[in-house]
Amino acid sequence: MGAFEHRFAHVVWWVLHITGLAALCILPSDLRVGEAVKAHHWLVAVALSINVLAHYAVRFSDPGWASPPSPADSAQAAASRAAAPTFLPSSPSVPTYVTDCESAAPLATTAALDGNNPVLCPLCGCLRRAPATTHCRYCNRCVEGFDHHCMWLGVCVGTRNHHLFARYIAVQAAVVLLGFHYALTACGRPSPYGYTWAYAILALMGLLVLPLGFLTVAHVLLVLTGHNSRQRLGAASGWVGGARGE
Ligand SMILES: [Zn+2]
Ligand SMILES: [Zn+2]
Repeated sequence: MGAFEHRFAHVVWWVLHITGLAALCILPSDLRVGEAVKAHHWLVAVALSINVLAHYAVRFSDPGWASPPSPADSAQAAASRAAAPTFLPSSPSVPTYVTDCESAAPLATTAALDGNNPVLCPLCGCLRRAPATTHCRYCNRCVEGFDHHCMWLGVCVGTRNHHLFARYIAVQAAVVLLGFHYALTACGRPSPYGYTWAYAILALMGLLVLPLGFLTVAHVLLVLTGHNSRQRLGAASGWVGGARGE
């Protein structure tokens, strides 16, 4: 998944929203009359505007990029590695400080990252201070509290923007639910455009609403408890990771 895939996902996101906006503005004109139509159009316009703002707030946010090391950090990290090189049992040629890349499996222990023992990412050279810092292979940078790299947003979700992501996904779920509601009210009603649009939107929204609802609940709970999904999934599979900042 490279730059092309990210651009493609971005275009698909916009096409879906513009198509949905057009369809939702056209369909209900046959469903409601007078002021109700105006109110409905305003509701859709406001919901989509908030959704776009929430989307770009995450897209341009800082997920918690790890910073480049100071010369002193670099020297101390080199000394630490020389003094106590540690290796993964399953990957003897790879030091532990190399792993914790979200593309690498299994996850390495992060016990060495205690804040007093600077560790440098050999892939991007950034300084890792927090245990949950992970290298994103798409951004080619380390992210503190890495949750995942979002293809639709083209950015990592980490410690600093997880709350923005949770808000965005909640707004996106609400917009999809709104679309589902209007498509449902349009189905079976007389329309010069036929029923195809209404049923097509209903099917699309129906497919999206449940996963988005689940993601909203999951990420809101993760933000409230100070965890990320990798830690939760890791704990479930036996990898013990601490809460953020531990
Ligand atoms: Zn890195
Ligand atoms: Zn990333």
